[in-house]
Amino acid sequence: MNLTTLSYRIKDETAGKHLIQMSYSCTFVWNFCNQSNAERWAKFGKTFTAFDLNKLTAGCAKDLGLHSQTVQAVAEEYAKCCKQFKRVKLNWRSRKKSLGWIPFKASGIKIEHDSITYGGRPFRFWLSRPIGGRVRFGSFAQDSKGHWFVNLVVEKSVEIRTPTGKECGIDLGLKTLATLSDGVELSRENLTRQYEVQLARAQRARKKKRVTAIHTKIKNKRKDWNHKATTRLVREYDRISVGNVSSSNLKKTRMAKSVSDAGWADFKLMLSYKSIGIGTVYTEVNESFSTVTCSSCKARSGPRGQAGLGVREWVCVECGSRHNRDQNAAKNILWHGLPRILRTGHCTPLRESPRL
Ligand SMILES: [Zn+2]
Repeated sequence: MNLTTLSYRIKDETAGKHLIQMSYSCTFVWNFCNQSNAERWAKFGKTFTAFDLNKLTAGCAKDLGLHSQTVQAVAEEYAKCCKQFKRVKLNWRSRKKSLGWIPFKASGIKIEHDSITYGGRPFRFWLSRPIGGRVRFGSFAQDSKGHWFVNLVVEKSVEIRTPTGKECGIDLGLKTLATLSDGVELSRENLTRQYEVQLARAQRARKKKRVTAIHTKIKNKRKDWNHKATTRLVREYDRISVGNVSSSNLKKTRMAKSVSDAGWADFKLMLSYKSIGIGTVYTEVNESFSTVTCSSCKARSGPRGQAGLGVREWVCVECGSRHNRDQNAAKNILWHGLPRILRTGHCTPLRESPRL
């Protein structure tokens, strides 16, 4: 079993009013714990444990309009922070400056589809992805923009994948996001170009909010696509190799728009942590010369330079194999990611070369 935190945005704006009121109560409990703790330290040179604080705060929940377990959760969090920072007094939580926060335990809430009931009041949220597990605890929390979210800590059973016997190298391209060594292409919309006109219009009109909203939309769409693609990949393949292309270098060239659209970094990060979670072997390899090297005979016979970028297909002059440029590169990347012992069957290994 492992614990995952899922965050969902609260739907109805009117909910904020009630949540803010409750978060004030949580602030009150926190500050009460803080004061009691400091006083006890001053008098007896001792601090309260979470257990003591629970006894001290017992019975105040109803008057504060909170679930009793929320009061407990605040006290426990307070004690935990004291311990963690080795302090007898923490910062006061302020009504105005601190972001809203209402912790709860599973027994204090009820979740039905996209609605969470707390303190007898339902709060609807955007069910952006399934919860898919047993909720242990969580919190309502506010972000710096004042939006409310419900965070759920969910217990999920660890997925054990059955080996598929499939391996792939991935060539991260500029236009279609990625080409796999088995010829599969993962393509996605060019979001930056898609929203280019809208974005320019908003910028000219100096509509700051609109500009932020469009950027957020692009970011979320990209993230969503990355999540779906990487989940599919780690489930399907036992071994995944990716080139170590540095997008910051490419960003300086005229391909900048396509590159930032592709967003390698996030995609690779997701691949790596999802691989660890599920038991897929993930490696990043030096991909220099992967496009010009023949994946069959390892001769550097491919099209070179800027002009070579336009060539989609080529034939190796050494061995006569016909290659699709991207798929050939992906095959080389896969081969590089293999353990040395599996590579020795090939005649001349690629020489190590400096990074791009
Ligand atoms: Zn060849």
